[in-house]
Amino acid sequence: MSDFSIPDFDFPTLEKGWVWLAGAGPGDPGLLSLHALNGLRQADIIVYDALVDTRILSFAKPDAEIIYAGKRGGKPSPKQQDISLKLVELAQAGKRVLRLKGGDPFVFGRGGEEALALVDAGIPFRIIPGITAGVGGLAYAGIPSTHRGINQAVTFLTGHDQNGVAPDQLDWDALAKGSPVIVMYMAMKHLELIAQKLMNGGRNPSEPVAIICDATLETQRILEVTLGTCASEAEASEMKPPAIVVLGEVVNLRSQLNWIDQVSQNRMTEATEEPV
Ligand code: SAH
Repeated sequence: MSDFSIPDFDFPTLEKGWVWLAGAGPGDPGLLSLHALNGLRQADIIVYDALVDTRILSFAKPDAEIIYAGKRGGKPSPKQQDISLKLVELAQAGKRVLRLKGGDPFVFGRGGEEALALVDAGIPFRIIPGITAGVGGLAYAGIPSTHRGINQAVTFLTGHDQNGVAPDQLDWDALAKGSPVIVMYMAMKHLELIAQKLMNGGRNPSEPVAIICDATLETQRILEVTLGTCASEAEASEMKPPAIVVLGEVVNLRSQLNWIDQVSQNRMTEATEEPV
């Protein structure tokens, strides 16, 4: 039974033989949803990915088994098929399984593939959405994904397809013309090519771009540049993935909405102030 409760709402019980496929959010443990927390507290087994902040795992039961399914020490990550089979196997063994993924499981997270494997095997499951890096990361950078008067649409894209190259199936000209704000996941490796494709499609080289690394974490770093120079400046800055790249006029709002620096400054003032 779930011991998690609030008045007039029963949090679900993670039953034996079930898999809950949950998003852990972009990093800051405070961005976890209550459903994900409820799952963490009941699971016998937690299978988590590289981008999940491990502090979140301290919510697990003391005897929960915790399995890492990401890349480690330069070794290749376990194959997607193997992870899906593992989830099926654990559920069939009668475990209560929490599959924890970074951000939202259904946004560039292969959550759909894992859920389809569960369907094929007849395993019951629940999907718990998470805050995706392309929305939460922008918020922590003081950049709204949409802003009235600036953009009525926003596009999320991946800068990397299954083969590790800049996606060819995308109609870059159409994106350049049709999407005022473009939020890019996994775009650092091919940023130069991507920026070029967007400029070829008509985007102005002086358009603002923000690159947000380690979004929502204490190590968050943001580079404000322009489309024309973003690739070379990103390289010179030595900013490392994970990073979200956002293109569009919404980036300019950051000069007024950059709340996180204010918060950390307050923290620093509190910490250094002499007691009276
Ligand atoms: N399902 C995840 C995305 C996984 S793909 C989500 O919804 O957020 C991995 C990519 O997500 C990274 O290469 C990066 O582009 C982005 N990402 C995830 N966490 C991030 C973070 N804390 N800061 C910046 N980018 C992040």
